[in-house]
Amino acid sequence: MPPPPPSKSHYDAIIIGAGPVGLFAVFELGLNDVGCLLIDTLDKVGGQCAELYPEKPIYDIPAFPVITGQELTDALMEQIKPFNPEFLLGTTVIEYTKSTDEEGALLYQVRTDEGGVYTAKVLVVASGGGNFTPKRLPIADAAGYEGRRLWYAVRQRKQFAKQHLVVCGGGDSAVDWALALYEDAASLTVVHRRPEFRAAPDSVRKLHLAIEAGSIGLVIGAPHAMGERDSQSDGTANKAEGAANKAEGPAPLLLDVKTDPTTIETLTCDHVLAFYGLTMKPGPVADFGLAMHDGLIVVDTEKFETSVPGVFAIGDINHYPGKLKLILSGFHEAALMAQQVFRYVYPDRRLRFQYTTSSSQLQRKLGVGKATG
Ligand SMILES: Cc1cc2nc3c(=O)[nH]c(=O)nc-3n(C[C@H](O)[C@H](O)[C@H](O)COP(=O)(O)OP(=O)(O)OC[C@H]3O[C@@H](n4cnc5c(N)ncnc54)[C@H](O)[C@@H]3O)c2cc1C
Repeated sequence: MPPPPPSKSHYDAIIIGAGPVGLFAVFELGLNDVGCLLIDTLDKVGGQCAELYPEKPIYDIPAFPVITGQELTDALMEQIKPFNPEFLLGTTVIEYTKSTDEEGALLYQVRTDEGGVYTAKVLVVASGGGNFTPKRLPIADAAGYEGRRLWYAVRQRKQFAKQHLVVCGGGDSAVDWALALYEDAASLTVVHRRPEFRAAPDSVRKLHLAIEAGSIGLVIGAPHAMGERDSQSDGTANKAEGAANKAEGPAPLLLDVKTDPTTIETLTCDHVLAFYGLTMKPGPVADFGLAMHDGLIVVDTEKFETSVPGVFAIGDINHYPGKLKLILSGFHEAALMAQQVFRYVYPDRRLRFQYTTSSSQLQRKLGVGKATG
């Protein structure tokens, strides 16, 4: 169920981006009594984890030997429930302005692409990869098949069970998805322009084993055309107009692959999955007037504050020496950011460092332990 719309226009903190790092920021800020509104362009929470690899296993989240992108998102949503964050999804923050309230305290105002205006005492930019879009299959007629028979991400792997699949690409995503899907598929063929794969060595080894065993097919070449077989088909991809309309039925999907300059091999399948990487653009945050480095927001490593006081940047969108674009790095950054945010939101209060295991005050906020009684 989509979350209800924001209940007010002013918050302690506005978090731009509800990816894993933005979500965990709610927890750290909540422990410090800072209430949040999260705004995200996507119509769901979870950022890259939910949009790009919901069913892919992640192995480097502390204390979870394995967890999928969606499971991590769901667990974060459960963890932040006690703090009642509010969400505005399907909405992009396009600009912000800085002003002061009647008492002279800093106030940030954000404007959204839908004309909404929200204010907060601090801004937390957690916009990660920004507006990330998959690189499209370089075939003129491919767009008409997107979301029906041509896929750039796997949202529900069960839709591909017992289906004839073609996976295009040679990087981590292509190799990982080929390995993840082939056992349940009716057949799976990988199309890559050269025999070498640019993926984790162990995954490449497993892929080669599956190819040698005949469990996965391999065609070396570049996708050239795509179409659906019709009654007059000569066996090559039908690129005729109206292909999108004809795709309602179960007509086989044909993918022409150029295996050398003069040879075309036609693959027949139900679905094509193309993994050519992502184009990540910072989007409107690049124009926020914050100090930037190669399209990323420069922060200090003590408070993760940007060049503008009261505006913070955490997760994949920020830059500092030694930065690793890992979820766990973003979680660490959120914890330190929340310390400084407290000082802005409660200038008259002293922040006491406490553990959730032993602080009844924190446990009361979380609604757990003896403190609940
Ligand atoms: C295939 C793949 C596998 C990965 N595997 C791992 C792994 O094993 N371990 C690991 O640690 N990391 C992994 N990562 C990286 C990890 O997903 C990122 O580090 C993480 O998602 C960053 O989180 P984030 O919250 O900073 O940003 P994101 O997840 O990118 O979320 C940012 C959100 O901000 C929103 N947004 C952007 N601009 C605006 C705007 N102007 N207004 C409103 N909303 C906006 C976006 O829509 C997005 O939802 C992987 C990434 C990919 C693509």
